Amino acid sequence: MINVTKPFLPDMEEYIDYVKSIWERNWLTNNGPLVNDLELRLKDFLGLDHLLFLGNGTIAIQIAMKALGMKGEIITTPFSYVATTSSIVWEGCKPVFADIDPHSLCIDPAKIEERITEHTTGILATHVYGNPCDVLAIEKIAAKHNLKVIYDAAHAFGVKYKGRSIFEYGDISTTSFHSTKLFHTVEGGAVITKDHDLLKTMARMRNFGHNSPDTFDGAGINGKNSEFHAAMGLVNMKHIDAIMASRKAQAMAYDKCLANLNVTKPTILKGAEWNYSYYPIIFESEEILLKSIYELNGNWVYPRRYFYPSLSTLDYVDKYECPISEDISKRVLCLPMFHSLKEEDIYFISRLLLRAQNN
Ligand SMILES: *Cc1c(COP(=O)(O)O)cnc(C)c1O
Repeated sequence: MINVTKPFLPDMEEYIDYVKSIWERNWLTNNGPLVNDLELRLKDFLGLDHLLFLGNGTIAIQIAMKALGMKGEIITTPFSYVATTSSIVWEGCKPVFADIDPHSLCIDPAKIEERITEHTTGILATHVYGNPCDVLAIEKIAAKHNLKVIYDAAHAFGVKYKGRSIFEYGDISTTSFHSTKLFHTVEGGAVITKDHDLLKTMARMRNFGHNSPDTFDGAGINGKNSEFHAAMGLVNMKHIDAIMASRKAQAMAYDKCLANLNVTKPTILKGAEWNYSYYPIIFESEEILLKSIYELNGNWVYPRRYFYPSLSTLDYVDKYECPISEDISKRVLCLPMFHSLKEEDIYFISRLLLRAQNN
């Protein structure tokens, strides 16, 4: 059986070494030494000023929204994982969907402007599949209308734009280190900002609002992560170059094998160094997509309709016209991609796709 993804696991021994050190210290959570180490390693690897390691990528979005004081209407993308939208609703704000660009599959800056009202306080956009949004255009719109910008960069680990980490764009970027992501800590996430005051606010929010053991500065939440999760991250960081190299090799193998398949792929933003974190293909019709899934499933291959459905069709949001997102979400499929996926698996999957197309 081949699933769309499979978490990376290092040799158990490497992890056990860290676990032994946790036993020796008897310090399991609450900003321990491994959490601090991981934050340093990540900042160093990604070239960032500030980063806070959090419990997951969803609490990261929620803390970012709170720290920026977002309220009212938040303009967001309908083409993302559900956590992008549900976090807005969870924070008591209203998601206002602006449709995506049909080529990049990221939010279309021109459509953002059309959705701005007197109630708009911010933009929450996703770098879909790690492909950066048009960050410069979004920056301009935000400056003109005095809006805060958060990027949900859950797919964008290691992505650069104009030579800088994509995590550096926006007022805050959030990311996820969930097991299924390119780099993971089992469960985990982070917020990234260049603003030192915002960093301090978010550090407090992550820890119940504590200023000191017995004083508080505002309400916080539990956004912390543990030494055990940080240990997994520290081990996986040792393999990150190999993980990223294998993703690229797999994408190139798919490209070659699928040259005759009648599908399109997202256009990566010019000036971006992509991380090949997913392999999305867009079929000509939902009918061919369903036929392809049927063929793959019949051979124990399980790709994923990611992202489907368009978030603009959720039953707990107000309706906004997003024809492009609704159309593409019906035709897009993510093919299996994970560290231990073999070249022969890619040949096999590609043959099945071509067979489904040509039958
Ligand atoms: C995975 C993901 C999240 C949520 O991250 P968790 O760590 O699972 O909470 C949010 N947004 C996007 C786009 C994601 O892919």
